[in-house]
Amino acid sequence: MENQKSYEQLADLDKRHFLHPTTAIKQQQANGPEFILTKGEGIRLYDLKGRSAIDGLSSLWNVNIGHGREEIADIAYEQMKTLGYSSCFATFSNEPAIKLAAKLAEIAPGNLTATFFTSGGSESNDTAYKLARHYWILKGQPKRKKIISRSQSYHGVAMGATSATGLKPFRDFTNSLAPDFCYVDHFSPQALRDKIKEEGPETIAAYIAEPVQGAGGVHIAPEGYFKEIRSICDEFGILFITDEVITAFGRTGKYFGIDHYDVAPDMMCFAKGITSGYAQLGGVMISETMHNDFIELSEGTLLHGYTYSGHPMACAVALKNLEILERENLIDNARVMGDELLEGFKKIQSERSIVGDVRTLGLIGAVEIVKNKETNERFPEPLAPKVLAEAAKRGLIVRSVVFDNQDTLVFAPPLIINQQEIHELIQILSKSIEAVE
Ligand code: PLP
Repeated sequence: MENQKSYEQLADLDKRHFLHPTTAIKQQQANGPEFILTKGEGIRLYDLKGRSAIDGLSSLWNVNIGHGREEIADIAYEQMKTLGYSSCFATFSNEPAIKLAAKLAEIAPGNLTATFFTSGGSESNDTAYKLARHYWILKGQPKRKKIISRSQSYHGVAMGATSATGLKPFRDFTNSLAPDFCYVDHFSPQALRDKIKEEGPETIAAYIAEPVQGAGGVHIAPEGYFKEIRSICDEFGILFITDEVITAFGRTGKYFGIDHYDVAPDMMCFAKGITSGYAQLGGVMISETMHNDFIELSEGTLLHGYTYSGHPMACAVALKNLEILERENLIDNARVMGDELLEGFKKIQSERSIVGDVRTLGLIGAVEIVKNKETNERFPEPLAPKVLAEAAKRGLIVRSVVFDNQDTLVFAPPLIINQQEIHELIQILSKSIEAVE
């Protein structure tokens, strides 16, 4: 009763004063927030109405080590007490940021050795495009400005990140974007080659791709795809950037998503899983070669920096988060539990008439809803949002993707999930699909 009263009061304030990110405004005004979250523990979230649910997407693909970790709270508290903020501009630095940059150099693919810190994925993407373009200015090829990305990609909401995002609704949201971005069909190396030739190789700064396209519907690149991409980029002297904002730090069952493909990028964006969402942090790593070129060719100041680049508390949290990831073998767990999740998806696929393709790579996965399994025909109105609502009622939070004629449920549970919890997730999912079938 008491909870219901405070729910209503908060919901009213929410509607009047809180402009929510990525939210259907009319729906929010009509219904108020569905969940006012109060607590997180392990793989579960709790709300003001006393309900609990499995966090099937690790919130926004980020809470990799699960909720309610006291060790993280302790390190944040200690760091805030000692040095709550430090600039990293010019001659200033701090110990957690230095140690984190060194740790990242140790674990990153290829010869990525230097990190520029940001506060999240969108800033990381804008940073990557600016650093790539600046690099070509330093190298005496200032015409190399264009960034090529993929048609179903999501790279964030800053102006550059939106401009690189292939998913059109995000770009259509605003009627003016950053110039010099172009798009190619995903999973077709030939499309990249054709695009480079069409635009002129001397005008291309970089090609960017997510190792697994997350927000676009969890599309896993076929074997060999990134090897071919790497060699095309090399052939035309183009920088290859991976956007690992979702796929880094164990999500796919390896440290980084690109590790599955046996190639290394020249630059890499990360965020989310670096702190498992406990603090706002992201970054861009660049190769040793690029770093050396920057050192040798830069005459002036690197005129790009955020107030919170290298934030000491966020970096201390990240170091502790990586320590937990390694100590608890969560990357291996993601691989093993990912196989378990796929088995569960396949069982549902064999039992339910409306389940088409299912796929996972570690603990990122998708279940497609189809009208006809043979032809892959979709329902005129997507059913995934209805499944999602049924799942929420039964204690499972997931997301649906309906862009580009898709009707897909996407999953990314915390990397700490165990076999019993996977079975619980699968059971709820199966019942929720049955309810809309
Ligand atoms: N890049 C990718 C691949 C993402 O999935 C996201 C967010 O989901 C972003 C960038 C943007 O990150 P942020 O929301 O932290 O700005």
